[in-house]
Amino acid sequence: MGGRFLSIGECMVELSQAGEGLLRKGFAGDTFNTAWYARACLPAEWSVDYFTVLGDDPLSSEMLTFMKAGGIGTEAIRRIEGRTPGLYLITLRNGERTFSYWRDTAAAKKLADDADHLRRSLEAADILYFSGITLGILAPEAVETLLAELRRARAAGKRVVFDPNIRPRLWPGKDYMLRTIEAGARAANLVLPSFDDETAHFGDATIAETIARYHALGVENVVVKNGAEGATLSFGGGTSHVPAVGVQNVVDTTSAGDSFNGGFLSRLVRGASPEDAAAYGAAVAAVVVGHHGALINPALLPS
Ligand code: ADP
Repeated sequence: MGGRFLSIGECMVELSQAGEGLLRKGFAGDTFNTAWYARACLPAEWSVDYFTVLGDDPLSSEMLTFMKAGGIGTEAIRRIEGRTPGLYLITLRNGERTFSYWRDTAAAKKLADDADHLRRSLEAADILYFSGITLGILAPEAVETLLAELRRARAAGKRVVFDPNIRPRLWPGKDYMLRTIEAGARAANLVLPSFDDETAHFGDATIAETIARYHALGVENVVVKNGAEGATLSFGGGTSHVPAVGVQNVVDTTSAGDSFNGGFLSRLVRGASPEDAAAYGAAVAAVVVGHHGALINPALLPS
């Protein structure tokens, strides 16, 4: 039986170095990356849709064409006159990637401004996915609108999944950031944090502390990702560990967590055990970290 997966957030224009002063254009963003991998891993009877707001400019049109070509539904995407998408540039400095962003006026910041449209879109989905980045780009009133609708969806029995993806530079201050991440988690019944973010910003000494903190907020199920150390699952009261898949040559860890989430959720929603779903998520992420770029060709992914 199929269903509908809806991912909510911001997809940006990505510019990366193509040599000789040229830039290569792509499209990516954490919640979009997860939609991409969920689409790649789910069978055709599942639809995967993206929820954001774009402008009426040519780049917004190109982004929509790219999404559709990837099999991702775009019917829920509103467009606003005179706006443009956010953009980021990847530069290499001594082999290290650095990111510069132009996203302060991105159309996606308006994604919760039409509450009726938001509600209808959420009602049409079976599983909803959002992140701390989705919340970080929004004004406080818009955060409230989005979380109220997600809480409503959760109360109606839908799966609501949150990846805290903590990015301090999106937020006006640390206290507000941590309080809003906690509010995001409270709206969800499954949270997928990365341990390095949680320890850096919430000060957790152990994965067990991260799990306990999210359960204390009322989250039923938690999966803590920890890079090459694998993932720790706390589902239905029991804890288990699923190792990462060994990778000989890690070339680019961009999107490791996003692709894990897409692979993991694609199995979980179809009834796999959390452990089997996490093993598949790890297999997907292992392929992704072995290739350049946030979005890799779906044909390369494990079946
Ligand atoms: P994030 O990208 O959100 O920081 P992690 O780095 O924790 O997420 O990685 C998410 C998942 O990707 C891990 O649980 C693991 O399965 C896989 N992964 C990440 N880094 C590696 C690696 N070096 N080798 C193999 N798998 C990895």
